Amino acid sequence: MMLAEWLKPCLQQVQTLKKGNALSHALLITGADGVGQESLAHEMVKDLMCESDQGIACGVCHSCELMNAETHPDYRVLDGENGTIKVDQVRSLVQKISQKPQVGKSKITLITHAEEMNVNAANALLKALEEPAENTFFILTTSQSKSLLPTIRSRCLLVSIPTPSLSDVQAWLSQLPEHSELQNLFWLTTQPFRLLSLQQQGKVSLYADLPSKLVELLQGRMSVSDVLKGVDTSNIEDYTNGLGAILHQCILHSAGGNLESALQEVYPILISRISIQGLMVRYTALQQLKEDLQKTNLNPIMQLTYELNQW
Ligand SMILES: [Zn+2]
Repeated sequence: MMLAEWLKPCLQQVQTLKKGNALSHALLITGADGVGQESLAHEMVKDLMCESDQGIACGVCHSCELMNAETHPDYRVLDGENGTIKVDQVRSLVQKISQKPQVGKSKITLITHAEEMNVNAANALLKALEEPAENTFFILTTSQSKSLLPTIRSRCLLVSIPTPSLSDVQAWLSQLPEHSELQNLFWLTTQPFRLLSLQQQGKVSLYADLPSKLVELLQGRMSVSDVLKGVDTSNIEDYTNGLGAILHQCILHSAGGNLESALQEVYPILISRISIQGLMVRYTALQQLKEDLQKTNLNPIMQLTYELNQW
């Protein structure tokens, strides 16, 4: 997949610094949620790992070959996507990165969702950033740079990804398979990499079907249990998110905002059934339900069934 247009200037910035031998040992890639921090980071790692002196990865040196085969021993990733990054994980990486590289010149550690580092982990990283070994790089990604220790932020070269315009997002999506389905989900999100991730997780139709199912429900042609067919603990958060996003968009529209075409049919039916005031009440209730999903003593599907019975 091609690097997104809005990520290219960020990549070039780092390539120029690499070529001029002026690159900082630590890079912090920031930007709004879902603009492509990780995608950019992976491209950067390839360039930095390359043994040539040029800015862009040559593609033919031993390091480039190993990177393309995803087996480079001097490149490590710590992913905070699924929860807290702990001090032992950081320490072990720091210990490995302080050894001699096994293959080329550089060693790189990528820490994604770096805001997930707890205080001890962050302090362990800070220590490593303060005494950088030669040819070692730490690349951090986050969408919440304010949650990082200021002392870590100040040690990093900041690479700030701009938020792409809707037409940039559309152009980028158009190279994906079944992209028209994704463009129909703009009521849910316009974050390009969130849409990509939904596609990779096979969740596009779950969301895309929600507005029409809701129409059927509100018009009495479908029961709540029909609408919730296939809901289980692995995807109930998606249903709750989707329903919440529909309500949110309808509330915005009632205040004069645009309405995505996928919601044209459901909006007037919702308004006539539960009124604008009701939209807000239901939206608040759904947000509460979303919080409650974390509590193990509740039956979430029963909760969602109860909620939809109020619509
Ligand atoms: Zn190379």
